[in-house]
Amino acid sequence: MVATLYCCECNLCSLYACPEDLDPKNVCVQAKPLARERGLTFKGDPASITPHPLAEFRRVPMRRLIARLGLGEFNNVGPLVDHSFSPQKVKILLKQHAGLPAVPVVKCGDQVHVGDLLAAPEQGKLGARLHASIDGVVTVGRDAIVIERREQGPLGP
Ligand code: SF4
Repeated sequence: MVATLYCCECNLCSLYACPEDLDPKNVCVQAKPLARERGLTFKGDPASITPHPLAEFRRVPMRRLIARLGLGEFNNVGPLVDHSFSPQKVKILLKQHAGLPAVPVVKCGDQVHVGDLLAAPEQGKLGARLHASIDGVVTVGRDAIVIERREQGPLGP
């Protein structure tokens, strides 16, 4: 049962390798809490772990995996076109993911340049530092910072 603890839940066995269409990955998922309840843990030295001698021969060809999963029709390789993207306006959410919303360090009307810091998490809190992705003038909202390009004449805006 301890071996199930090594399962990284990649799902390769269930989606690709099992010739019987069984679901070994989920067996591991369900066995892990049981193993922990019984105090089963890895007791060895992690540094002593080495790859299986046949690991090189167990690689999965990506083309076979795509075919097996029935993803062939979605495997669109192009044509890819280089094209420049230069938006007039961007909206950057203060809350990007796990963690607290960032606190703006700019105010409405500030001129910013690409890379300038717009907002940062409170000291000691988990969050993201947000930077300007275009040059422009800032509007600070409750949930987001908007940057808008402004045409500048020879004498400025
Ligand atoms: S048991 Fe299945 S899901 Fe777990 S690591 Fe091995 S191939 Fe991946």
